[in-house]
Amino acid sequence: MNVHEYQAKQILSRYGLPIPRGEVATTPEQAREVAERFGVPVVVKAQVLVGGRGKAGGVKLAPTPAAAEERARDILGMQIKGIPVRKVLVAEASSIARELYLSAVVDRASKAVVLMASAAGGVDVEEVARTSPEKIVRATVDACLGLADFQARELAFGLGVAPGRVREFVRIASGLYSALVQCDASLAEINPLAVAADGSLRCLDAKMVLDDNALFRHPDLEAMRDVEEEDPFEARARAEGLSYVKLDGNIGCVVNGAGLAMATLDVVKLRGGAPANFLDIGGGARAERVSAALRIVLADPAVRAVLFNIFGGITRCDEVARGIVEALGGVRAALPIVVRLVGTNEEEGRRILGRAGLVAVASMDDAARAVVGAASAGERPEVRR
Ligand code: GDP
Ligand code: MN
Repeated sequence: MNVHEYQAKQILSRYGLPIPRGEVATTPEQAREVAERFGVPVVVKAQVLVGGRGKAGGVKLAPTPAAAEERARDILGMQIKGIPVRKVLVAEASSIARELYLSAVVDRASKAVVLMASAAGGVDVEEVARTSPEKIVRATVDACLGLADFQARELAFGLGVAPGRVREFVRIASGLYSALVQCDASLAEINPLAVAADGSLRCLDAKMVLDDNALFRHPDLEAMRDVEEEDPFEARARAEGLSYVKLDGNIGCVVNGAGLAMATLDVVKLRGGAPANFLDIGGGARAERVSAALRIVLADPAVRAVLFNIFGGITRCDEVARGIVEALGGVRAALPIVVRLVGTNEEEGRRILGRAGLVAVASMDDAARAVVGAASAGERPEVRR
């Protein structure tokens, strides 16, 4: 789960990081009022869950309260990467001498938390990572020992932090590391970590990605979820208890088991198709869950054909077949549905499908070929929701 900048800043300030004072506004008048209270200049910042807001015109300085109102009016009327801006953060503006980059990330390659830092922070840091990776310094953290002060100092030296400010930097790096670990985040990023004219350090932008699988032990963080900005299909699937991830293609996939679901996406791609989603109905799914899954997939306007890949162990093929028939509600499917069905109660499952005019395929590869063919065959007909 991604949280907004203002939320990431709320979290990080609990770990002692230096965050400029700020408040969220949803109207231009509110933005003006905040600027009057804080004193100017302020910076008005779009709160949307995508990066590159600065380059899109979503971050603006305002020298007066009236200007804050104006900037907020502009930004609240914008869309950034297709997402309408519904809130702005109005924060005390800082003077910037230098922009650093600092992040803590769960790095799969080194199976550890890695701190990354660069003297070339700011809006072009992705470009820096691509073209001059040597400008990024790293520290790999031992999970048992935690971030050692000497490691944080090494990062500070690598960034050219002034000697008198190293201690301050170490505190920030340690706080960031603790925030990542204690909040079960996969990323905690400060960009820019600004060096002011007097040399002091400030976190002007923050980003955090929280591990969905650990949210159950952080109800306060879970409450930060912005339902307005979520993918509607993912939100619906979560409510049904299904693991669903929206993808770019046009073949809806419904599979039992995460591993089989991954393999199914691979086989669809191998046969020239493009999956519209990852969807794991889980082990032992009953008919209701299966039909909920199919309804979600059919509601996606990008979907041209649906592939069921069921390897019945604990999951019973007859339950899956019943779920499919139930979702279709006794009418013929408006989209081609290819069902690969093998394992427990396969015969019964095939009979149920047969009565609804659907045929089950035995091999995963045959099913993938069939669904790719069907998806490329034609336009999507009208589908009931
Ligand atoms: P992003 O583009 O989504 O990463 O948004 P940021 O919050 O990082 O803002 C983009 C850029 O705006 C930063 O790199 C800074 O150069 C600038 N900026 C942000 N806050 C301030 C501020 O308080 N004062 C000044 N002078 N510039 C700021
Ligand atoms: Mn930024």
